[in-house]
Amino acid sequence: MNLSTSIEYVPGIGPKKAAVLIGEMSVRTVGDLLSCYPYKYVDRSRFYMISECTDTMSYIQLRGKIVRMEKRGEGRSLRLVAVFTDGRSFIDLVWFKGLRFVEEKLRLNTMYIVFGKPSRFGDRLNIAHPEIEPLNEANIEKNSGLQPFYNTTEKMKNNFLASNAIRKFVCTILSDRDLFIPETLPEDIVRQFALMPKAEAVRCVHCPVNGEQLSAARRRLKFEELFYIQLSIIRQTKLREQKYKGFVFPVIGDYFNRFYRECLPFELTGAQKRVLREIRADVGSGRQMNRLLQGDVGSGKTIVALMCCLMAIDNGFQAAIMAPTEILATQHYQSIAEMVRPLGIDVRLLTGSTKKRDREETASALEEGRLQIIIGTHALIEDTVKFHNLGMVIIDEQHRFGVAQRARLWTKNVVPPHILVMTATPIPRTLAMTIYGDLDVSVIDELPPGRKPIATYHYFDNSRASLNRFIQSQIEQGRQVYVVYPLIQESEKLDLKNLETGYAAMREVFPQYVTVMVHGKMKPADKDAAMARFVFGEAQIMVATTVIEVGVNVPNATVMVIESAERFGLSQLHQLRGRVGRGGEQSYCILMSSYKIADDTRRRLQIMTETNDGFQIAEADLNLRGPGDIEGTVQSGLPFALRIANLATDGRILQAARTVAKDLLDDDPELSKPEHEILVRQLELLKRDKINWGVIS
Ligand code: ADP
Ligand code: MG
Repeated sequence: MNLSTSIEYVPGIGPKKAAVLIGEMSVRTVGDLLSCYPYKYVDRSRFYMISECTDTMSYIQLRGKIVRMEKRGEGRSLRLVAVFTDGRSFIDLVWFKGLRFVEEKLRLNTMYIVFGKPSRFGDRLNIAHPEIEPLNEANIEKNSGLQPFYNTTEKMKNNFLASNAIRKFVCTILSDRDLFIPETLPEDIVRQFALMPKAEAVRCVHCPVNGEQLSAARRRLKFEELFYIQLSIIRQTKLREQKYKGFVFPVIGDYFNRFYRECLPFELTGAQKRVLREIRADVGSGRQMNRLLQGDVGSGKTIVALMCCLMAIDNGFQAAIMAPTEILATQHYQSIAEMVRPLGIDVRLLTGSTKKRDREETASALEEGRLQIIIGTHALIEDTVKFHNLGMVIIDEQHRFGVAQRARLWTKNVVPPHILVMTATPIPRTLAMTIYGDLDVSVIDELPPGRKPIATYHYFDNSRASLNRFIQSQIEQGRQVYVVYPLIQESEKLDLKNLETGYAAMREVFPQYVTVMVHGKMKPADKDAAMARFVFGEAQIMVATTVIEVGVNVPNATVMVIESAERFGLSQLHQLRGRVGRGGEQSYCILMSSYKIADDTRRRLQIMTETNDGFQIAEADLNLRGPGDIEGTVQSGLPFALRIANLATDGRILQAARTVAKDLLDDDPELSKPEHEILVRQLELLKRDKINWGVIS
């Protein structure tokens, strides 16, 4: 076998299992399987005493015998219970499936090794479906050391590809004497950082003998993963800077100055001014700007966006602001058109529901250069939209835009426009370095004056009566209330039903008030009408899905009730909360959840009640997520899951990897030195896997 041998030919796999591995994990070759690293290890180097066991433990190993076995319950709750003892205390081993087989196999008063995860049932500890094997030399030997666990899917499990099976196949591969695992990092880097050689690292990560060896192996593999990501990003950035010169905006002109003097509705915060200076320096430099603007919800990014547009049109260029939803684009349009009205600037809106006639007129105005600022949704990146000279593009709430969509903006001009990406989801530094490795970052870290922190509480479903009393008292004071329901695509129908039930309930509880409902499946006209009733204060309560997550601005709304809050991620909760607290009044966010929630969910909701700081929340979010949490990764904007590195905990390795990559490219920008051939080859491999970190800007 070698690394490119098809997975099918590994003894025990064959064509059927191979097809599942390809479909579920994109594992085609022996090398692919070896780079599926275990997501956790269980220490089987010792036996625990039953008296040490608690239900918070991970997998453990016990030694002892069964003293009694019996079937309990009937029908679906029929189970086999074996009372197991290590000579001092007792624990139940429980099986719900395969009872007959287990019952026949097990003997009373024989010594066994039991392996599994303790949990609590009533006041007794038990282990459900443990692994159980006779206690003998061979089994002790086989189970010693750290046992790896691999990510699998439901489909894999159904096809005999559970973690145990993967472990067996990996062992088979690694014991093949012909297998050769080449080094994938340049020698001097391996030496400089005292990294474990690749071949050894691969062996040790799958079959570690002890913890020390394992962490050395993991460090090596993490370094490699992060290093190639950084190398790819920095290289692409350099290539791009060579290829494209940016537009120069030499002047701060009339529009900008007049707006600043005459139209600014408030004094800019120090942070807003600083960010504008940073942007000004970029667009005056001759380099194309690629800047990420981070600012918490309500920190005042819109006005910065507008003033960037003014910089562009002062220099004879057009500007575009792109928002992820129609509602948000419309709101931007309304507030910006209002603010620049005294300046006589032509601003227009282009979305999916713009009428054909308007659309055509807007398109020709854009192409002829009569139109200065265009605000819109994805509609802006359609091929039919052509610009006369697009100089500045601002993308709001970027995490909603895919990489490919952003890349299309580049083709709108021969010279790419300056790009400002705005996000309200503060991104921890390590993540920013990885996702936006080539973007410069500006931060608005100051809220406009006079904002009161939002008071956040976590209630369980059984406190609904007091929640309703609270809502009542707020509305009596003239305030408005949001009630948000989760909408998760797989079960859209069910979600919609929850939403509708919630809507009906609010109308029943508060017949004296107007309640409106908004969700993504409504006709745009109906949705807009409902939104408008809330925005203009005609309706006191809005029951909605997360369509309101982004950007909606109703300063009079002071209560945000989030239903089934356990189903939202931290950053989404934070975004939703940002819909209130926009006026001068004290605002509240109430997180409703069922009583039965997992510990980490409880922790997540607790963090929300403790802080309003988006950066803290983002860090906590990253820390709570395990490295193998693919859903979480998508949510945070990573284009794919990292195989082994963890951005929450590997900040230092990342920093080192980035520095090395940078120095290396400064020294050899084309990677043409012979000792760097290995780098070019690895980058090609990454590209083959469609991991192109360079276009993510
Ligand atoms: P976000 O960063 O979430 O997009 P917005 O730009 O929508 O925030 O601003 C939130 C609110 O704060 C708006 O009503 C806006 O007019 C107001 N605002 C922005 N900057 C300032 C400031 N410097 N002083 C007072 N109010 C401000
Ligand atoms: Mg905004």
